[in-house]
Amino acid sequence: MSKTPITVARGDGIGPEIMDATLDILNAAGAQLDIEEIEIGEAVYTRGIQNGIEESSWDSLRRTKVFLKAPITTPQGGGFKSLNVTVRKSLGLYANVRPCVSYHPYVETNFPGMDMVIIRENEEDLYAGIEHRQTQDVVQSLKLISRPGSERIVRYAFEYARANGRKKVTCMIKDNIMKMADGLFHRVFDEIGEEYPDIEKDHYIIDIGIARVAARPNDFDVIVTENLYGDIISDVAVEITGSVGLGGSCNVGDDFAMFEAVHGSAPDISGKGIANPSGLLLGAVLMLNHIGQSEVATKVHNAWFKTLEDGIHTGDIYDAELSKEKVGTEGFAAAVIARLGQTPSQFKAVDYGSGAKEGLKLPPLKPRKTQSKELVGADIFINFDGTPESLASRIKAAEGLELQIIANRGVKVWPNGHPDTFCSDHWCCRFQKTALMSHDMIIAQLQAIKDAGLEFIKVENLYEFDGERGYTLAQGQ
Ligand code: NAD
Repeated sequence: MSKTPITVARGDGIGPEIMDATLDILNAAGAQLDIEEIEIGEAVYTRGIQNGIEESSWDSLRRTKVFLKAPITTPQGGGFKSLNVTVRKSLGLYANVRPCVSYHPYVETNFPGMDMVIIRENEEDLYAGIEHRQTQDVVQSLKLISRPGSERIVRYAFEYARANGRKKVTCMIKDNIMKMADGLFHRVFDEIGEEYPDIEKDHYIIDIGIARVAARPNDFDVIVTENLYGDIISDVAVEITGSVGLGGSCNVGDDFAMFEAVHGSAPDISGKGIANPSGLLLGAVLMLNHIGQSEVATKVHNAWFKTLEDGIHTGDIYDAELSKEKVGTEGFAAAVIARLGQTPSQFKAVDYGSGAKEGLKLPPLKPRKTQSKELVGADIFINFDGTPESLASRIKAAEGLELQIIANRGVKVWPNGHPDTFCSDHWCCRFQKTALMSHDMIIAQLQAIKDAGLEFIKVENLYEFDGERGYTLAQGQ
């Protein structure tokens, strides 16, 4: 078999330890890999590279299109960008797939039989990282949800369910609050879901949804959700299987794929040789299937099951009553290697077949009809210290516009606001058209605000699409 080129990064924290263990097992199992190693993470950030990856490393990723990545530590503050987010977005890895399985009775868990897959949208939502401090007291983080982004991840979830013999797909959103953003995701779920009559569908508001996952995980099969919710819910789900150290994941796009553990760089245990390499190893099993080395994937996964059921456990899952031997990272790898070629007797052995598994190929996005878009007003945000009345008295509406309301943190405070509403220094003045509206009228309004000695900090245009309001009303409006 010819060798498959892959790019490997050892990361930092426990990254190098668990990567060594994983590669030892893959080599011993006969994986045919031509490894190109790149450096990412702490060492690269320390050299002042803001996104934690050198330009030259992209060449390797573009060449191999397959990335086995150990966790890295994201520096807090200092303007550094999350490397994980950069890689996912730069390579178009729109789907993050996280299987969460319990290994009862060999790993202590309250939920025997748990077997769910979380499919998380990987590029949009608050992870766009678009943040601005607009006044002394107020910062903003933009949540962006697109129709094509939602359509792609929802379709991926249904296609994944079909391809993997799964019965149900659950959508988790918060559309009781984010009626437009999460409402769009939910609507797309309902629309695409109609094309999959063979798959059961349901949906939860994310808060009760996560609570249910934590209390009754066996009710779930495939979950599809937005980026932030998916991040939180998959840590909850993998933790209740017994340890966050057991979760592997893959990030897939049309051309590239990245395989990793669910957990982070665990600085609290790094350098001690005690980390569980299972998460990264299970990520590597997904990778072996992706590159068509399914026989090796089967061998590694079965040897790993056998190691677990033989009671050879790392500290995070060690239980004096269930386990037989407590081992470190290297000891665990040696135990898996010693069992290559064996099959588990208690767990169901896996068989991934022999051929190259084609990744999921999604149909093109649905064609969309262009909607009419009409400008009907503008929200102009102003930095101001004072009362709503004093602000309103200083603003003169430009010709063709009328100041309709003033809101503060999403609550209407003028006219007829509640005197008890706390007001920050960040005000939204909503202007609606009284005549045929143009962008020039918004420019005239900004000029009028400036001339009144006020500081505008941003403008959001108000549109209607095919006559439907494309903005929310303020609370109390
Ligand atoms: P973490 O997942 O690193 O650790 C959480 C807890 O789980 C710790 O107590 C840790 O000891 C334990 N743990 C994690 N992996 C383990 C393993 N393999 N074996 C045994 N125990 C394990 O989460 P954190 O502490 O919140 O984050 C640490 C750093 O990792 C942060 O800088 C964060 O940004 C980064 N991070 C990176 C990734 C990634 O690279 N994909 C993902 C998540 C977090």
